[in-house]
Amino acid sequence: MSTLSASSRTTSEWQQLDHAHQVHPFTDQKALHGRGVRVITGAQGVYIWDSEGNRFLDGMAGLWCVNVGYGRKELTQAVQRQMEELPYYNNFFQTANVSQIELARMLAELTPNGLRHFIYSSSGSEANDTVVRLVRHYWATLGKPTKRVFIGRTLAYHGSTLAAVSLGGMPNMRGMDRVPLPEFEHIIHPHAYWQGEGVTKESYGLKAARALEEKILELGADNVAAFIGEPAQGAGGVFEAPAGYWAEIQRICKKHDVLLVADEVICGFGRTGQWFGSHTYDIAPDLMSMAKGLSSGYLPISAVAMTDRIFDVIAGGGPIAHGYTYSGHPTACAVAIANLNIMKRERIVDHVRETASPYFFQKLQELAQRHPLIGEVRGVGLMAAVQLVRDKQKRIPFDAKQEPAIKCREACLSEGLIVRAVGEAVVLSPPLIITRDEIDELIGKLSAGLDQAAAQLG
Ligand SMILES: *Cc1c(COP(=O)(O)O)cnc(C)c1O
Repeated sequence: MSTLSASSRTTSEWQQLDHAHQVHPFTDQKALHGRGVRVITGAQGVYIWDSEGNRFLDGMAGLWCVNVGYGRKELTQAVQRQMEELPYYNNFFQTANVSQIELARMLAELTPNGLRHFIYSSSGSEANDTVVRLVRHYWATLGKPTKRVFIGRTLAYHGSTLAAVSLGGMPNMRGMDRVPLPEFEHIIHPHAYWQGEGVTKESYGLKAARALEEKILELGADNVAAFIGEPAQGAGGVFEAPAGYWAEIQRICKKHDVLLVADEVICGFGRTGQWFGSHTYDIAPDLMSMAKGLSSGYLPISAVAMTDRIFDVIAGGGPIAHGYTYSGHPTACAVAIANLNIMKRERIVDHVRETASPYFFQKLQELAQRHPLIGEVRGVGLMAAVQLVRDKQKRIPFDAKQEPAIKCREACLSEGLIVRAVGEAVVLSPPLIITRDEIDELIGKLSAGLDQAAAQLG
């Protein structure tokens, strides 16, 4: 049997076949055909290669997920072992397998706040759909069936399924369909930069947190099931939480008997410099969704964690009429276990907090000092946004039509660096194993990309 190889066709043949048969998420299909896809053929450490032999430093860790880097033999071996032993079996009808059980045990050790019961799924979106169903079931079982509304935030990202997209608050996610669905509400997110120089991060954070209380009072606490937030917002543009923000959110949730859900899909597993964003911001959530870094993206797996308080009610509420064929897929669990073992053995979370993150932000701040395009650098751990502005003294934004971040993203690509463009910001989220030398390389390429973009913007 021959394995499929990139070299069995030319790049343009692959591109034509791709256009003929593959529909791409988050992509303008027509524009894509004009340019052709980049065919990615290999990866090692923090680097990926395309079919033309170009090497890129992956400043996005895939999609915020390849935390331990590419090319980990230990993970492929774990997959092979599990595949040979038990490639698949479900966990529905009084069955389990050892990989599911062991992973749940390991997660219970790592998560904060007594989150020690886990239900599996295969993606962050599915995890958040699971949250919506379980939380409503929780309140109904407690005899409070009117508590159904979820409150999320503007520029939040919680996934792409119908419930997850309704939890989210990114305007570009709303175009295709009549979302959010009913019973999903949103409050402002706590990013102060555009509020002007006189407004401090902390004071704006408090204002943004108090918007939750206003919303709960407007809806009636009897109708509100939960508040959901990413500890630090990711795909909406990387907004770290200001000091005091989460404390105030938690005070409000407690006071009005509203559950708190932390969406840790990006923040979880070291991205913020602690195991979970909830550790970094001292959040005690009732439920937590996790995905991405759980397996470093090697196989799809996600989970929802819950405390005894939630589990005990749900466990007494009759059968859980929810689950997926691939919930707790043993091979995905096996790769997650191996991934967590690498994270622990190599002390990758400590590496982020003590070494990589301080150096990364020092270098980004230095770049911001000297570069006229950069209005603000923000972020936490190893997730960052570089806000591009037309006038950094007066905080005047670019006209969106000028597409400064897309220009910068394309220029970075030509320099051999993958970044993401979100609005008028350039977003970075490299593998957590990135070294100081690789950070230097990343910053050098980003700086060159910014110069190219500045020249184009005139
Ligand atoms: C990526 C993401 C999701 C959705 O995960 P998928 O696996 O793409 O469904 C949910 N929440 C957050 C915070 C994310 O970044």
